[in-house]
Amino acid sequence: MGLSDQVEVPKPLRFVLNWGRKYSLWVYNFGLACCAIEFIAASTARHDFIRFGVIPFAHAPRQADVMIVAGTLTDKMAPAVKRLYDQMPEPKYVISFGSCSNCGGPYWDSYSVTKGVDQIIPVDVYVPGCPPRPEALLEGIVHLQELIGNESLKDRYAERDARQPIVVGGGDPTR
Ligand code: SF4
Repeated sequence: MGLSDQVEVPKPLRFVLNWGRKYSLWVYNFGLACCAIEFIAASTARHDFIRFGVIPFAHAPRQADVMIVAGTLTDKMAPAVKRLYDQMPEPKYVISFGSCSNCGGPYWDSYSVTKGVDQIIPVDVYVPGCPPRPEALLEGIVHLQELIGNESLKDRYAERDARQPIVVGGGDPTR
């Protein structure tokens, strides 16, 4: 039985399950360069993303609900990111944080940089900027929580290839 063959959960029960999932987001932080510092800033007392139910302590992909890729993804590192993403249990989500992980950023013409993490794994939320402010990450997390709160997992798996990612601030994440 595939993921898309699972039974649809009745709406009231789905609301409760989604409510629990969206406020218990175990994050696997994949910090690769300077943007990772902004991720750390978002976790400190001033911005405090833990108050949104974000738990930045997933020390292994098998504990994680969300992977946040923050920084410059090189071609050499890309297989490791893909492998760790594959080890995360479903349902799983990805936030691409910063221009480098969105599209290569300032290194868009480098021979060694992957031009966007979405070339190897699906992205749910893009946060543009070089680097984005911690507030932009908070906005991305709120968008992800809205997505989780309203979703049917059956539909999520069935429409896997047709999913429209969210871009914080709108527009094109590659700019
Ligand atoms: Fe550094 Fe800018 Fe790339 Fe972020 S987007 S990792 S700040 S160069």
